Amino acid sequence: MKFHGLILDINGTLVNNHQLLGGALKLFAFLKESKTPYVLLSNDSTMTPVEWENVFSDLGLYVASDNILTSSVITAEFFDKNISKDKRIYLIGGYALESALTKKGYNITQNENYDVVLMGSDKKIDYKKISDGAIYINNGAKFFATNLDRIILSAGEVVPGNGALAKVLETATSVKPINIGKPSKFALDFAISKLKIHASEILILGDNPETDIAGASASGIKSVLLRTGLSNYISATVKPDYIFNNLTEFIANIHK
Ligand SMILES: [Mg+2]
Repeated sequence: MKFHGLILDINGTLVNNHQLLGGALKLFAFLKESKTPYVLLSNDSTMTPVEWENVFSDLGLYVASDNILTSSVITAEFFDKNISKDKRIYLIGGYALESALTKKGYNITQNENYDVVLMGSDKKIDYKKISDGAIYINNGAKFFATNLDRIILSAGEVVPGNGALAKVLETATSVKPINIGKPSKFALDFAISKLKIHASEILILGDNPETDIAGASASGIKSVLLRTGLSNYISATVKPDYIFNNLTEFIANIHK
């Protein structure tokens, strides 16, 4: 396997339930020793990069928040380039998403009507939020999602992801959301630009065929599917370049 940079998924790849998966410490030791540039790219929109940095630090790993790209961060970058600051944004999502947008200069306030409906994971989502979102979309608001993951793992159980809930709004409005997170080209290109090396020299490591592997394939990046996390619940429609049982097995094959 030849690569000069890595894009790493977080949940199901490096951690499960905020606990490191086997091989994670070894992987980061390799990255440090070989001076291989890397970024973490996660569709999870619920935590800020600094919160992730703290989680990793508690687990004995130093990962600079600047190297942690969540779908909230990616969404804020996308909005910065595509949505003018005066647009009224109806936000379904948590604090991490709001803070990423606020950092870019967006003012999230209550309005009568909205130009944009943005949907990220929201643990307090309810019928009223979904209904209001539907009304604004039906009134012409553009519909974006931080990610469209159908399922996620929570405490080892498969539960609905943001994509499953966005489907409710899509069904009610007949408007498909524009997905900003993986596997979108925007998300992958942004991660590539952070690494400052050519896509052909990068490897993406992930557990979700629909986001990690599909995104890599669309952006011309070689991919590794780990048989951890969600890989056992989602069948691969896009073929990864490599498949390993876990990080330990990946590390053992790096120089082969
Ligand atoms: Mg994952």
